[in-house]
Amino acid sequence: MQSYVARVKDEWLGLIRETEPHIHEMARGLGEDHARDLSEIFYTNILTDPQAVDFLTNEQVETHLKKSLVVWVKRVLSCTENDVDELIALQQHVGEIHARIGIPIQLVDMGARILKRNIIPLIIERNGSENDKIKLLSFSLSSIDLALEIMARTFTFGESSSMKDDENYRIFSLLENAEEEKERQIGSLLSWEMDVIYNVMLETDLDSIQLLSRADFGLWFNHKGRHYFSGIAEVGYIAKLMQETDQILLKTREGSRTFRQKNLRNDFMLQIKNNTTQIAALLRGLFDDVSKHEVGMDVLTKLLNRRFLAAIFKREIAHANRSGTQLSVLLIDVDKFKEINDGHGHATGDDILRKISQVFYDNVRSSDYVFRYGGDEFLIVLTEATPTETMHIAERIRAKAMKQVVNTPDGKQLTTTLSIGAAMFQGHPDYERLVQAADEALYVAKRNGRNRAEMYNPNNKA
Ligand code: GH3
Ligand code: MG
Repeated sequence: MQSYVARVKDEWLGLIRETEPHIHEMARGLGEDHARDLSEIFYTNILTDPQAVDFLTNEQVETHLKKSLVVWVKRVLSCTENDVDELIALQQHVGEIHARIGIPIQLVDMGARILKRNIIPLIIERNGSENDKIKLLSFSLSSIDLALEIMARTFTFGESSSMKDDENYRIFSLLENAEEEKERQIGSLLSWEMDVIYNVMLETDLDSIQLLSRADFGLWFNHKGRHYFSGIAEVGYIAKLMQETDQILLKTREGSRTFRQKNLRNDFMLQIKNNTTQIAALLRGLFDDVSKHEVGMDVLTKLLNRRFLAAIFKREIAHANRSGTQLSVLLIDVDKFKEINDGHGHATGDDILRKISQVFYDNVRSSDYVFRYGGDEFLIVLTEATPTETMHIAERIRAKAMKQVVNTPDGKQLTTTLSIGAAMFQGHPDYERLVQAADEALYVAKRNGRNRAEMYNPNNKA
C-alpha cells in the first residue's frame, strides 16, 4: 500500500498540474500582496483565546511567529511541482514542533478556520473574471487544506507518543516513593481486616462492616492502583479477590445478622483472612516489580530518562509563560571521558557517571529536574533561578564534581572535570531552542579549555 506521504504528494502534484498557469500566477500575487495582512488577522484572533496564552506570548508572536506565517502563506500559495517535497517536509516539521510544544489540536483547527475565512474576501476583491476567481479560491483553499492536513497528521502522531510519555511520567512520579506507598496501602488493607475481626468478635451488627470496595484500600485500588499497574495480570486477580471478599460479606449478612454460631464465625474469618493475605501478597509483588523496572529512570545513574524531557518542559514552559518566572537549563558534559574509559575501563567510567550524578542530585533544589541526556551528557532544568543563580549552581556543581574520587582497578585514584553550558528561557515555546542554546554555550566552554561553565550569549556564538 502506498504510504500517506506518497499519496498526499500525488494529490498535491495533481492539484498543481490541473491548475492553469494564470491561476498559479494569481495565487502567487495573492500571497505576495496579502500574506502579511493574513498573518496579522490570524494572530490577533488567536491571541484572544485564553488557551493560546499558555503557549504563546505577545513577544514571541511579534518577533518570530508572524514572520513565519507570512513565509508559510506565500510558499503554500506559490507552490510549484518542484517545491512539493520541500513543502511537505516543512509541514511535518511544523507539526512536530506543535506536538512538542503541546498545542491543543482545537487551537490548530481554529487557526485554520480563521485563515480560510479571511482569505475569501481578499480573493473576491481581486481583479479578474468571476470564473478565474472561483478557480483561484478553489486552488488556494485546497492548497491550504493539503498543507494543514499533513501538519495535523504529524501532529497527532507526535502528540499521541508524547501523551504516552506524559502518562508514564505521571505514574512514575506517583510511584517515586513506591516503597512508602506499598507499606501504606498494605497497612490500609490490614486495618480493614482488623476492623472486620473486631466487629465479628464484638458481635456487632454485620451491617456496620464496610465493604472492602468501599473501604480506603478499595477506593485507592479502584481509582489509582488499577491505573498504576494497568495491563498486569495481577491487577485482575486482586480485583476478583476483592469482589469475592465483598460477596462473602454480603452473603453472610443475608444469612444471619450476627455470629452467634462459632463455626460460622470461624469460617467467615478464615475466608476473609485468606483473601486479604492473598491480596497483600499480590500487591507486594506488583510494587516490587515496578520499583525493579524503575519506570522512567536511567538504570545506571537513577536520574530521569530523557524521554520525559518533553513532558516536563511542556509543563515548566507553560508555568514560566503564565507566571513570568525564570526557567533555565544546564547542559553538562564530562571532559575527556573517552580517555577514562580507554585508560581505566568502562566500569571505572560507569563509577564516575554514578558519582557525578549524585553530585547533581545533591546540588539542585527539589523543584529542579536532573536528566541523563546521553552517554556522558546530563541536562538539568532549573526552575525559578535567575541568570546569576543559574551560574552559581553551575559553578557549585563543577567545583564539587572535581572533588569526586574514583578508585581504579589498578589502585589509582581518579578525578574528573565537567564542562557546562547554561541558557535562560527566552519565551520560545519550543524547548529545543533552549537546549540548543545551552549546547552552544557548552561548546564555548569546551573551546575555552574545559572544566568551566558558560552562559549562552547570542553575541558570542560558537
Ligand atoms: P570531550 O571533553 O570533548 O567531551 O571529550 P570526551 O572524550 O568526553 O568526548 P565525548 O563526550 O564525545 O565522549 C563520550 C564517551 O562516553 C564516548 C562513549 O564511549 C562514552 N560513554 C557513553 N555512555 C557510556 C556509559 O554508559 N558508560 C561509560 N563508561 N562510557 C560511556
Ligand atoms: Mg564528554
